[in-house]
Amino acid sequence: MEDKKKSDRYPCVVVNLEKLKRNAIIITGICRVQGISVCGVFKGLEQRKECIKAISEGGVVQMAGSRIAHLEAAREAGVKVPLMLLRMPMLSEVESVVQIADYSLATEKECIAKVNECAGKYGKVHNIILMADIGDLREGYWDKDELVDVAEWVENELENVHLAGVGINVGCYGGIEPTPEKLSELVVIKDKVEARIGRKLEIISGGGTTSLPRILMGDGNMPKGINHLRIGEGIILSHDLGHYFGVDTPYMEEDTFKLQMELVEVKEKPSYPVGELGNDVQGRRKVFIDKGIRKKGLAICGYVDYGNVESVIPLDKGVEILEACSDYTLLDLTEARKDYKIGDILEFSIDYEAMAHLAKSKDIEFVYEKGAV
Ligand SMILES: *Cc1c(COP(=O)(O)O)cnc(C)c1O
Repeated sequence: MEDKKKSDRYPCVVVNLEKLKRNAIIITGICRVQGISVCGVFKGLEQRKECIKAISEGGVVQMAGSRIAHLEAAREAGVKVPLMLLRMPMLSEVESVVQIADYSLATEKECIAKVNECAGKYGKVHNIILMADIGDLREGYWDKDELVDVAEWVENELENVHLAGVGINVGCYGGIEPTPEKLSELVVIKDKVEARIGRKLEIISGGGTTSLPRILMGDGNMPKGINHLRIGEGIILSHDLGHYFGVDTPYMEEDTFKLQMELVEVKEKPSYPVGELGNDVQGRRKVFIDKGIRKKGLAICGYVDYGNVESVIPLDKGVEILEACSDYTLLDLTEARKDYKIGDILEFSIDYEAMAHLAKSKDIEFVYEKGAV
């Protein structure tokens, strides 16, 4: 067990930066072969600079975050590629957006005009990607003629804004599937914009990880014309590609991020609560199966730290998670591969959602393990 101890402070997340970078290299490599550039999305990593830097060295053409402070952290981390703001800029933050970001997404003329004004003030030319809404109903122009008109206006009237491309986002509000047919709608929009402004656009951005199966499945069926994806989850936790997107990726590194928790109590206890059954910690009335006396463990780390308990899976397959309280994870250790005692460290594999939760917490230390890929 000693060899697993990577930190002096638990709970912690152990990150293998080599694996993280390697996963970025694999995804960008596969995409490149199919004519797609990848923008690395690090919003789930908050301001964990080592992780941001590792992805940025994996062949991505830009790095994107959702907050100005995160982009600043990326700059401080020494990221060399251009930075993109993924969340639509608020009018109130445009001044910082043009100073820190090289690219941002745009859907409102008033905001683009302000970007132009502020960029001028700092002697910069800011790149924008006009977003179209093809049915997911979050950000983007619903009226595609309006998008084309705005593209022409940016191209001809604005000196300090460069129209770098067009993009879409799916799988957020509507949960719309990025089928080849759906994604082709973006190619139609691109063609209209290019015809109107009389030149090619650099970026035709077909979404995030939800669009990745178009590239990774079989021979790939990404519509011709799309040349850019914004990928976070698919690089950061490749495990999710199989789990949530049905794409088998044996060539990618697993468990880039592992959660470690310390046991504070190990005792033989009944499996069936004793007394009158009421509601549990989350207000639910649970059904218990009486398995007799079991070896139970309490580990420090709870749903306040990692969010959904289903996002956390013990690496020791004999360990079962019984429940997550706010600050504890309750475990059944009876079938565990090891005779656990208090002070021992348990390791868990986590998904992107849990990783994003943990990255947000100021109490969770991220520690970095070396090599061994
Ligand atoms: C979060 C986000 C992405 C990346 O999403 P992943 O699922 O992590 O790949 C791409 N584009 C926009 C606009 C986003 O907000």
